Amino acid sequence: MKSVDAHLADILAAVGPLPPRPLPLGSAHGCVLAADLHAATALPGFDNSAMDGYALHAADVAGAGPDHPVTLPVTGDIPAAPGTPAPVAPGTAVRIMTGAPLPPGADTVVQIEWTDGRMDQVTVARAPVPGQNIRRAGEDVAVGDLVLPAGRLLGAAQIGLLAALNVAAPTVHPRPRVAVLSTGSELVEVGGTLGPGQIVDSNSHAVAAAAREAGARVRRLAGVPDSPDAFAALLGDVRTDTDAVITTGGVSVGAFDVVKQVLAAAGTVRFERLAMRPGMPQGFGVLDGVPVFTLPGNPVSALVSFELFVRPALRRMRGLAFVHRPTLVVTTAQPVRAAAGRRSYLRVRLADGGEGRPPVAHLTGGQGAHQMSALAAADALLIVPADGGEVPAGRELTALLLDDEVTAAGRLGGALPADRRRVEVGG
Ligand code: AMP
Ligand code: MG
Repeated sequence: MKSVDAHLADILAAVGPLPPRPLPLGSAHGCVLAADLHAATALPGFDNSAMDGYALHAADVAGAGPDHPVTLPVTGDIPAAPGTPAPVAPGTAVRIMTGAPLPPGADTVVQIEWTDGRMDQVTVARAPVPGQNIRRAGEDVAVGDLVLPAGRLLGAAQIGLLAALNVAAPTVHPRPRVAVLSTGSELVEVGGTLGPGQIVDSNSHAVAAAAREAGARVRRLAGVPDSPDAFAALLGDVRTDTDAVITTGGVSVGAFDVVKQVLAAAGTVRFERLAMRPGMPQGFGVLDGVPVFTLPGNPVSALVSFELFVRPALRRMRGLAFVHRPTLVVTTAQPVRAAAGRRSYLRVRLADGGEGRPPVAHLTGGQGAHQMSALAAADALLIVPADGGEVPAGRELTALLLDDEVTAAGRLGGALPADRRRVEVGG
């Protein structure tokens, strides 16, 4: 049997970041920047006021104080609006709003709170520091600055910065377009009526959701019956405009395992038995340039396989440097055991282990590959090494966090000593 690590290595060697292209900001959100971005404009673009107040010459109010206020005529208003303001003559002031361009001549803005706030003339009872309340052009970003390096994930702040810099379509690695199709003649679309021997196709929904969570754009296709012709036809159709195909079911040694029948004949997809549980039968290959992941049909196997193999691959296609889920050291709450010769991924929920101790991993229920309720209750997969025999309660093992790092660390925060809070990557 092939190891999980060898299978993952084969997959990661076969996929790479998708070719970069410019995307509008809404679509670029959540994508990875493909090239260093240097500012073509400065931020702020012009000297402007940081406060609502009065633009004036600091020298005119240098002697102002509570006992000897200075009064200046107010010659106009400068709103935050298009236009070039007229100069401010010495001995006068102009009302100015936050974000409005600083008028020529003025070297200081006195905030309204330091004045009587009038419109015809203004009395200033406190001497400003010259230059006060002025946001200088380029003090945030200068032209030519490297503002976002290649490889940076574009979240809200990065999108805001790009917009401020007037970059409408940054060059990014696009999200992979993924087609998800489930196979099985027993499958009925959710919401349908079940006859004898039929079950709801849950895999296509679960895998589609997982792929979306991994940052893909997903096309979910309804269950394909176990007919080689039907499967081959659909596979031919979906491969256009698709960056990856994920199938579930039909990869085992059963009589109607169509995925294996059709794709094994194509020659570029390899079907293997992996030393893992759940999810022993797996296939992966590249068909006409499109990576094809053929996951096993049992619902827990399908999702665990997605976690271990597909999610890292999709993240690599997105151009992300960190492709793995974080892992944590945890303590077993009860004795656990791996299947003989197969590394096991048990469905667990992590509980606070107490001050300075690792979280405790509790099995969430039945560990059969069909038992989705235990996976749905889990926030981590406990990794039980192959051939370790029975692992007693209270032993330290590694767990793969299914919850995102922040949520898990937040919930268990009190329990995690600093060194445990540092998460590691690894399958
Ligand atoms: P297979 O890998 O096709 O032999 O399927 C293994 C088990 O998973 C069988 O019990 C199938 O009924 C079940 N199964 C396969 N595909 C799905 C699916 N899309 N949704 C839910 N269960 C499935
Ligand atoms: Mg099947």
